[in-house]
Amino acid sequence: MQSLHSQAFDSEYFREQGHQLVNLLANYIRDTQKGPESLPVFPSKNPDALYQEWQADLKENYKNKDIQSLFEKVLQENIHTLHPKYVGHQVASPLPINALADMLGSLMNSGMGVYEMGSPMVALEKLVVKETAKVLGYSPAADGILTSGGSLGNLTALLTARSVKAGYDLWQEGQQDAHKLAVMVSEESHYCVNRAIKIMGWGDEGIVKIPVNANKQVDIRALESTYQAAKAKGRQVIALVANACSTSTGSYDDIESMADFCAQHQLWLHVDGAHGGAVIYSEKYRHRVRGIERADSVVLDYHKMLLTTALATALVFKDGSLAYRTFAQKADYLWESSEEAEWYNLGKRTIECTKHAMSLRIYAIMRTYGREIFGEQIDYQYDLAQDFAQLIEKNEDFELALQPEANILCFRYRPEGSREADLNALNAGIRKAVIESGRFYIVQTLIEGKVFLRCTLMNPFTQLPDLECLLHFIRSLQSIRA
Ligand SMILES: *Cc1c(COP(=O)(O)O)cnc(C)c1O
Repeated sequence: MQSLHSQAFDSEYFREQGHQLVNLLANYIRDTQKGPESLPVFPSKNPDALYQEWQADLKENYKNKDIQSLFEKVLQENIHTLHPKYVGHQVASPLPINALADMLGSLMNSGMGVYEMGSPMVALEKLVVKETAKVLGYSPAADGILTSGGSLGNLTALLTARSVKAGYDLWQEGQQDAHKLAVMVSEESHYCVNRAIKIMGWGDEGIVKIPVNANKQVDIRALESTYQAAKAKGRQVIALVANACSTSTGSYDDIESMADFCAQHQLWLHVDGAHGGAVIYSEKYRHRVRGIERADSVVLDYHKMLLTTALATALVFKDGSLAYRTFAQKADYLWESSEEAEWYNLGKRTIECTKHAMSLRIYAIMRTYGREIFGEQIDYQYDLAQDFAQLIEKNEDFELALQPEANILCFRYRPEGSREADLNALNAGIRKAVIESGRFYIVQTLIEGKVFLRCTLMNPFTQLPDLECLLHFIRSLQSIRA
C-alpha cells in the first residue's frame, strides 16, 4: 500500500475524528432547535466573495489533517435547515438519525444498480416502495423504485407512460412524424415536468398547458377543450400530469376528476406529488389527494415533507410490471438475463446505474419511529399554515394570496396608502432585507405578475410566535419605506 493510502485508511484517525464530528453535530442539533438570534438562518454572502474565500482556504490548508476545521467552517457558512426560522424552501429539516444512516451508507458505498452491489438496501428499496404503495391505496400489483429526486422521478414516469401509450415501438424506431406525442400539464406544473417533455424531444407543442382556476388548480371544465384543441393541431396526447400540490402556491388538483377524464380518453395519469403527496400519511389531510390510487404513477419526495435527508424519492406505479418496459434495452454484461423482470436488479427500471442507497434513509425512519412520525409532521405543518393564514388576515397591512391547502403560504406586505405599482419592488426589497438580516429564511414567488413572499413550513420546531415575529420584523424594516 502506498503511504498516502495507509494514512487515509487509518481506522484510529477515523475513530477520533468521527467522535469529534458527532460531538459537533450533537451540539448543533441542540442549539439550533432554540433558534438562537446569534445564528443567522442563512449567512448571506456574495457568491464570488465566497468562492474566493474557498480558493484561499485550499491554499492555506492544503494537506491539512485537521478535518474538523473544514467541517466547522462549512457548517457555519451553510443555511441552517434545522433552525426554526428556516421557513423558505421545501427541503426537509432532516431527522438526525439520517445523518447516522448516511455515514454508514457512505462507507459501504453501495452501487444499487445491480443486486450484489447493495443487497440489503435493494431489499429495503422494495420494502419502502411497497409500504408507500400501500399507503397510497394501491393493490399489491403496485411497485416502483427510488430515484435521486422528483425531477428524475417525473421524467422516468413520463418515459414509462411513453413506452406504454405511444402506440408503436418508439424505443427501437425512434420518434416518428406520424406520432406527434404530447402531455397535458397544469399551467402551474413544476418546471421539471416541462423539462422532461422537452428532454423527450417533443418541443413546445408537446407541452399542452391546461388553464388553472383562481385557486391555481387545474380547471376541470377546460380539460376537454384543451384536449380537443391539441388533437386538432395533430397532437397525440398520451398523458396528463396532476399537481399534488403545486410548488408555487401549494394547490392540489382534483385528482378524482382528472382520473375520470383519463379513463375516458385512455390517457396515462401521473401525479406529481413530490411535495404534497406526503399527505397520504395524514388521516386529517389525506382527502387532499382523493383518487390518487387511480393514478398510473405517483412521485413522492421523502426529502421534502417527510423529514428525510435529500435525496430520496419514491416513484410508484399502479401496475409495477410496466416499469420494466421503460428502458427495453440490452445490458447483458450487467444482468444475466436482460429480458427477465428481475426486481432486484434495480438498474433495469432506472436511468441511474450507480445510485445512492437512499432506501436506508427512509427505512431507518420507518423502523425507528414508525410511519406515524410522517403523519405527525404533516398535521403539524399543515395546521400551522392555517394558523399563520389567520394571523395574516388579522393584520390588515398584510395580504394573503390564497387560503393554504398545504404548508406553503404566499402573502405580501401592503401598508395602508401604498400604490399597487410600488408593491412588487417593496416586497422584493423585503425578501432581500429579510434574508440578509439572517433572522429568517423566506423566498418569493410571482402570482399573476405580483411579487409575493413565500413561506414553506418544514421545521418541526417552528411555532406561530416565530411567524408572528416575522410579520413584526417585516413591518419594522425601515429601509423598505425609503
Ligand atoms: C420539488 C418539486 C419537484 C422537483 O423535485 P426534486 O426532488 O427537487 O427534483 C417536482 N415537482 C414538484 C411539485 C415539486 O414541488
